Amino acid sequence: MEYKAFTSRNFRTIPQIANLPERFRKDMEIVAAVLPFKSNSYVVNELIDWENFEQDPIFKLTFPVREMLSEEHFKSIEQALDSNMESNQFKSLCNKISLELNPHPAGQLEMNIPVLDGRKIEGIQHKYSETVLFFPAQGQTCHAYCTFCFRWPQFSGLEGMKIASKQSNDLSEYLKAHKEVTNLLFTGGDPLVMKTKILEGYIEPLLAPEFDHVHTIRIGSKALAYWPYRFLTDTDSKDLLRLFERVTKSGKHLALMAHFNHPVELSTKAVKQAIRLIRSTGVEIRTQSPILKHINDSAHAWAKMWRQQVALGCSPYYMFMARDTGAKQYFDVSLENAYNIFREAYSKVSGLARTARGPVMSAAPGKVHMVGVSEVSGKKVFVLQFIQGRQADWVKRPFFAEYNADASWLNELKPAFGEEKFFWQDDFEEMTRIRLANAIHQDEE
Ligand SMILES: *Cc1c(COP(=O)(O)O)cnc(C)c1O
Ligand code: SF4
Repeated sequence: MEYKAFTSRNFRTIPQIANLPERFRKDMEIVAAVLPFKSNSYVVNELIDWENFEQDPIFKLTFPVREMLSEEHFKSIEQALDSNMESNQFKSLCNKISLELNPHPAGQLEMNIPVLDGRKIEGIQHKYSETVLFFPAQGQTCHAYCTFCFRWPQFSGLEGMKIASKQSNDLSEYLKAHKEVTNLLFTGGDPLVMKTKILEGYIEPLLAPEFDHVHTIRIGSKALAYWPYRFLTDTDSKDLLRLFERVTKSGKHLALMAHFNHPVELSTKAVKQAIRLIRSTGVEIRTQSPILKHINDSAHAWAKMWRQQVALGCSPYYMFMARDTGAKQYFDVSLENAYNIFREAYSKVSGLARTARGPVMSAAPGKVHMVGVSEVSGKKVFVLQFIQGRQADWVKRPFFAEYNADASWLNELKPAFGEEKFFWQDDFEEMTRIRLANAIHQDEE
């Protein structure tokens, strides 16, 4: 299939959209002023059910709808457009609204940038000792933008917010200096938007013996869901599969962390064929997704996804809570609901699909797992634990929060039993203070 991208600039040319009443197109334009979107010919022609587009999960995942903005934000953009506001003034209005939508949650920018020989290394995050995240500069975009995604500021052109690296060299030097790192995770955006040649430039050097300690390379990508032809008919698809094969033959584990939000993304001939080809190179596919209202907030959807994934040879990995950013209120599912959905879905699938963990909040102190709702001495509480912690010692120590039916993120929870703080909180506040002080100090130099 030929790739064709659609954005707010040309979406009116999509035949299925040209047929909709004008008010939908107008709404999309207004919301897109702050929540950029991008889709493509595969998503439009093979995934969306246009007969029921208003209910269609993939439509809502890729195209902006009015309810994603507050009435107030929506109205102010609408008025600006109707009154032909001067373009600089319009841009600053949109920027102001974007910033109110919390474009970089969880202190990602300040807290996770590592230092090598006294120099800050852009494009690398090292939060948990075993695993380094790498953001290749050419991979900072995606095959389609997901309307819920916390990475959207990277695409919306907000200055100073882009995390990227041009230097494969920095990565090598950093990994050589950090023998505790066993896992390298390529992320973005979507690293598989990069041409194979460029990806190869990053990965191939890591097959040398001095990187033996990095036994696993992961690539986080939504290509299987949004552009499976990346592995089938793109001009460098075959080269990509050959690169995968070289990595696995070298003895390293290569895992594709595939992002699937809905069972329909696993249903096409193209995605099934792509999964088969990828697996034939020795690459493992693990799957993850946030839980999102309007998209996949049902046990049925998750059980179906997990079953289909296992049937196709993929391993379910994480169910995430949606990050506190962008159109969060539109996609918001409470912790309690997410837990109920997880539990019900989990109870319906075989052990092979029970490799999934969740719901998980990837928050500043770590990956916090909502273990469940329980009752202790007649009091309803949330049971939580770290799956990953900024301090390794926090992991797998159950802790309790007051029951809160509306909470959907860690910062809304209070310690249970009248305690003032969670057990990890003092340590975390101390670490935050030190790191922020360091960051500020370095900026001054
Ligand atoms: C999730 C995550 C990882 C990987 O954690 P695993 O539990 O190994 O999947 C690494 N770094 C950051 C910052 C993360 O959020
Ligand atoms: S980073 Fe992933 S979730 Fe975010 S827009 Fe890109 S493909 Fe979607």
